[in-house]
Amino acid sequence: MSAMETEVLIRQHLIDPEVCIRCNTCEETCPINAITHDDRNYVVDPAVCNGCNACLPPCPTGSIDHWRTVPKHNAYSVEAQLGWDELPPEQELAGETMAVVASASSQQLNAAVSATSPMAPHSAEKPQVHCFDTRNPVTATVAGNYRLTAEDAESDIRHIVLDFGNHRFPVLEGQSVGIIPPGVDAAGKPHYLRMYSIASPRDGERPGYNNLALTVKRVVGEQDGTVIRGVASNYLCDLRKGDRVQVTGPYGDRFLMPNHPGSNLLMICTGTGAAPMRAMTEYRRRLQAQGRAVEGQLMLFFGARMPDELPYFGPLLKLPPSLITKHFAFSRLPGEPRCYVQDKLREHASAVAELLTSDTFIYICGLKGMEAGVMEALHDVCAKTGMNWEALHQTMVNEGRFHVETY
Ligand code: NAP
Repeated sequence: MSAMETEVLIRQHLIDPEVCIRCNTCEETCPINAITHDDRNYVVDPAVCNGCNACLPPCPTGSIDHWRTVPKHNAYSVEAQLGWDELPPEQELAGETMAVVASASSQQLNAAVSATSPMAPHSAEKPQVHCFDTRNPVTATVAGNYRLTAEDAESDIRHIVLDFGNHRFPVLEGQSVGIIPPGVDAAGKPHYLRMYSIASPRDGERPGYNNLALTVKRVVGEQDGTVIRGVASNYLCDLRKGDRVQVTGPYGDRFLMPNHPGSNLLMICTGTGAAPMRAMTEYRRRLQAQGRAVEGQLMLFFGARMPDELPYFGPLLKLPPSLITKHFAFSRLPGEPRCYVQDKLREHASAVAELLTSDTFIYICGLKGMEAGVMEALHDVCAKTGMNWEALHQTMVNEGRFHVETY
């Protein structure tokens, strides 16, 4: 065995200095203090990072999600990373060395695999990203702010339409925008931006009007008897027509829909996680209305407490079965047992399994807690028909056909 063959490789976690907006979210999130910074860069200490990925979801720009396969003894040091203006290219590694990764224990392999970011669908439109950042946000005007949940429903979910006027703000379904709430936080610093998925298709909430919509739930909680109000969600939910909002982005180059006719979408969401599903569904609906080739199926599993708390429930009901198959899971219907999206996946196992055997792309969006349950349900759905979900899942990840956005 050559020296190269015994080389230990790691997937080193890196932050893209060209995209990072220095919001400090990753450093605040890391449970083991592996992230540090100077006045130039945010960096990850390879000696501390354990690849738990806790820092990935809160990052507003995606700059956190970069990885390089490197020999362990030659990992990029904190000092080296602090000096970077851009990420280094992927290193050329000998084939034998790669084989060591491939033959690593399944635990190591899983760590390497879970650290690998999913790819965009092969036929996705090329997204534009980072047209506006915190130093150079675009000002949008509120064109409307509509309550989606019943007036007497506990949750206040809003459909907020932002108009970009003469500013070009190109988006694709599945992308997000950053919203900068005005004012400062308790420490006197400007609020950091918050991310919201775009709920409109690429040609706008109203085609040709250079606008887009967000789906925002007013966050109100309680801690030790004190009412806590989410800064950005309350700011957004209280906006009135004509108000001006500082927006950054767009963000996201992977959670995108396939463009080729015949591709199926299996969409699984809870609550406001419906935003990207609405964008994708509406895009396909518009294509169909124009008589353009669509062919592929849409299948939606959507969970909410009750029908009057399910955003877009009314309009969704009107969509024809020729466009989309809908399955709603309600968790708090009086007198009914609790039902979650994973229960509905199992209930419709044969249709889901059939979809999984074809040209299908999976999108999961919503509560972090649903992720494990949905994965178990997909395992059960596949097992029922003799398919191996774990293998299929890995194939779908590798092919850019499996996408998750949970918080
Ligand atoms: P929610 O109303 O709290 O919950 C929606 C439904 O999910 C309820 O029926 C709930 O049931 C159920 N649920 C709870 N735990 C579950 C589990 N483990 N598995 C499956 N279902 C479960 O939802 P929400 O407040 O709207 O939150 C949606 C999430 O989406 C938030 O975390 C938000 O950050 C995220 N998100 C939002 C956007 C956006 O652009 N607005 C984009 C992406 C993601 P019970 O509560 O009755 O148990």
